[in-house]
Amino acid sequence: MFTNWLTRFCIPAYYQLGIWRVQYLQKVCCVCYLHPVATMTGIRGSAKSPLISRTNSSSHSKLCNLQQQKGAQAERPFLSSLVCQDCHNDLDWLPPVFELPLTNIMHHSKPDVTILSIQTAAPHVNYLRTAIIDFKYKEKLNALPILMHALRQLPRPHGCHAGNSVILATPTTKQRLAARGFEPVAVLAHYLSQHWQIPLWQGVVRVDEAVSQQGLDRYQRQANISQAFELLTKPPTRRVLLFDDVVTTGATLSALALTILEAYPQTQLTAYSLSHGD
Ligand SMILES: [Zn+2]
Repeated sequence: MFTNWLTRFCIPAYYQLGIWRVQYLQKVCCVCYLHPVATMTGIRGSAKSPLISRTNSSSHSKLCNLQQQKGAQAERPFLSSLVCQDCHNDLDWLPPVFELPLTNIMHHSKPDVTILSIQTAAPHVNYLRTAIIDFKYKEKLNALPILMHALRQLPRPHGCHAGNSVILATPTTKQRLAARGFEPVAVLAHYLSQHWQIPLWQGVVRVDEAVSQQGLDRYQRQANISQAFELLTKPPTRRVLLFDDVVTTGATLSALALTILEAYPQTQLTAYSLSHGD
């Protein structure tokens, strides 16, 4: 109970101070610490945008090349005052949704959804990968603004709002929570909830003390995780948006989805993550 309270209130407040410091005091990109960050006005086509008026010719030509290569993507506005356009363009944001077939579905209650769609913000590469590792395993606060930038690239699911949807972050084991002292996924989900204006729901707990999923193949992960979660209450809405920080094989999200679907087959599930890859 106390750790829940800590995760929900104290820890976001602690991180929020770090975010405010970066947003209001730091005027350079959180990735390269070189270029000024683009303001929303600058991004929306002002000729005096700091991106265009930059005097460094090599970075300007790099920017032009990227714009030529990526066409509309480079022109696409992005919601951020945290990362510069050059660094933003270094990642291929919003790769195609991938569909994960859900297996081990109980025979007596066939859910009407057997495919779980997963939208990730970007591939698990480059500075995003480093930032996730730094935040999750080293608790480095300066990685959080980069992760927030990535979260802000995830468009709010069509038709979802606070009245019909909740976000469920993948719960962690008590063992890991005790070791780390905080739930990185819960902190990220808190910011996703702010970004989408959709509330969090904490109706599932992690009941196994499974070993880490790192280094296991798809089948080992599936076996390791299949009984990992327990549903505590009925989902408050028909739509539940699952969230995890990194999706590798999708075994964790698949197990989480099945935990809900086995009890409430009519639940509409879609999954989101910051990154996809090893
Ligand atoms: Zn940058």
